[in-house]
Amino acid sequence: MQNSFKNIRNHFPMLQQTLHGHTLTYFDNASTTHKPKQVLDVIMQFYSTSYANIYRGVHTFAEQATQQYEDARAKVAQFIGANDVSEIVFTRGCTEGINFVANTWGMQNIKAGDVIVITEMEHHANLLPWQRLAQQKGAQLSFIPVTPDGVLDLSNLDAIVTSKTKLVSFVDVSNALGTHNDGITIIKRAQAVGAKILIDAAQSVPHNKINIFSTGADFLVFSGHKMLAPTGIGVLYINKNLHNEIEPYQLGGGIVFEADWKTASWLQAPQKFEAGTPPIAQAIGLGAAIDYINTHIDFDILRQHVADLCSRLIDGLSRFPAVKIIGPISQLKKHGHVVSFIINGVHAHDVAAFLDTKGICVRAGHHCAQPLAKKLGYAASVRASFYCYNTMQEVDLLVGAVEVLIRSL
Ligand code: PMP
Repeated sequence: MQNSFKNIRNHFPMLQQTLHGHTLTYFDNASTTHKPKQVLDVIMQFYSTSYANIYRGVHTFAEQATQQYEDARAKVAQFIGANDVSEIVFTRGCTEGINFVANTWGMQNIKAGDVIVITEMEHHANLLPWQRLAQQKGAQLSFIPVTPDGVLDLSNLDAIVTSKTKLVSFVDVSNALGTHNDGITIIKRAQAVGAKILIDAAQSVPHNKINIFSTGADFLVFSGHKMLAPTGIGVLYINKNLHNEIEPYQLGGGIVFEADWKTASWLQAPQKFEAGTPPIAQAIGLGAAIDYINTHIDFDILRQHVADLCSRLIDGLSRFPAVKIIGPISQLKKHGHVVSFIINGVHAHDVAAFLDTKGICVRAGHHCAQPLAKKLGYAASVRASFYCYNTMQEVDLLVGAVEVLIRSL
């Protein structure tokens, strides 16, 4: 295990480039991360030497591909501490995972008068599927509120999560603000009323060693592309106890135990939940990303590293009266990886476009959490988000560029 990230940047071909004549500073990691050569090599190797469709053949390459795909599943299970590999369902990403649960477990179990509880801090991926399900079923969608500081107000939790609540689905770490939520308190309350629990761990799995078993979650979702793996691959964890009661999400090849003209029966999970040709190379790429993380990234060090970057950025930006940081500043300095801010008088998109000319990639907008932005009173913010390959020098470049922009106003 390597204890510092000093040389890690050399592993990332994308980061060797310049942007508009500047060394590339990539601060858009909450959106997606770059891929190390080690992951790209595994994908290249798979397509060059073992590629075939999985399960359906008995030829050598079909077997090799199947083995590599299933090895990737086992790596994911081990990585998040799942009890059983069958609890790992490969998806396209978080969005598909949540839609999966809404359209299967949700369609089967939510009834008129039931309550689904989410938070006011959700990414649209964990808002819109529940909005639609509630509308379709005549159920109620309730929200754990956000304070003006950008943290969840849990003071009224017992009144929000009640015996009518059938599902509590919440974001563990906010992509828009960087807030770490108090999942333990939320989960305890959900369990007390017998509600199912879904955790949107898109922003946590890339940064924390989680143990799914100790969370008590029924469902948990994350996306590979935010943790050094390719796009098109994500994970939906489904607790084994629910496998029999959940119907397949999509129907087609790969899930059938026996089919007749009028009826069909399904294989066991996880095959039951993965109809069609899955993203084979992408899953193998996710396995390679987990290998990379296990070899090169100590999560304790990573957490401290990105929090130090947040601290430096917050301190740097706090010097400018025109800048307002959105989110719980003291928490972000301790364990954040995201800093969102606005500059009075300049639209976030103009800030991002200016920073791009300096070789700095940040994201600007509502970060797919528009109701949250409206509640906190901004239309768009600038978001810098960090990962293992970022440095203090890069943060200083960002602060310097913001200073130049403000002086030019
Ligand atoms: N939830 C959160 C908290 C996210 O940050 C994201 C991605 N920005 C998603 C859900 C959706 O992930 P994906 O687009 O990979 O499906």
